[in-house]
Amino acid sequence: MGTDDGRHTVNCNCKVGSVAESYDIGGITYELEDLWTADGDEGYSLRELADYFNRAVLESAMRGVGIDPLDGDVANVYRLLTDDEASPGSRVEAERRLEREGTSADRLRDDFVTHQTIYRHLKNCLEAEYQRREPNPRTRIQRDIERMEGLQNRTTVIVEEIVRRLHDAELVSIGGFDVYNDVRIVCEECAKQYSPRELLQRGGCGCGVDGSS
Ligand SMILES: [Zn+2]
Ligand SMILES: [Zn+2]
Repeated sequence: MGTDDGRHTVNCNCKVGSVAESYDIGGITYELEDLWTADGDEGYSLRELADYFNRAVLESAMRGVGIDPLDGDVANVYRLLTDDEASPGSRVEAERRLEREGTSADRLRDDFVTHQTIYRHLKNCLEAEYQRREPNPRTRIQRDIERMEGLQNRTTVIVEEIVRRLHDAELVSIGGFDVYNDVRIVCEECAKQYSPRELLQRGGCGCGVDGSS
């Protein structure tokens, strides 16, 4: 790996690395990893990364032949070159424009990468671990407790609402009522019962039997 102070250039031999180098956008090879592993909704999908990379290639090629792309210009030309839905007329026009300025649409398309290529680069060249995006175990358990309790509360509310509506429509007769919605997880080995929160917080039944082994 070649590094120079933080913003490294990469020395990988995969297509991502060699294309990035030939378009003088070496830093992007690491930027891809940052974008990929960003937390939560910020993280790019592999397809988005491929588009991001390819647009950077296109932009560099356009600038290289003296085109100064305006806002949205790169994205638009990229779409025309790659999207099967683009009108053939507009595509040819975009290709001609690039050729006129001295760059080749065919060569650009050859240099564009697929999401599989991006994935191999992240995996093999950068050893980026997709797992990094998994939250830590404590956060994960907390999130799952909240999810289950949220579902449980929703069920209670819905049941209450339905009974009340049917009661109002005089289809079901009942006085005041309460809805009990008690989710229990029962260990088959020792018959102890837990609420989802209890079981997850204590990390298991603890009677010594782990059915998964
Ligand atoms: Zn690579
Ligand atoms: Zn047990």
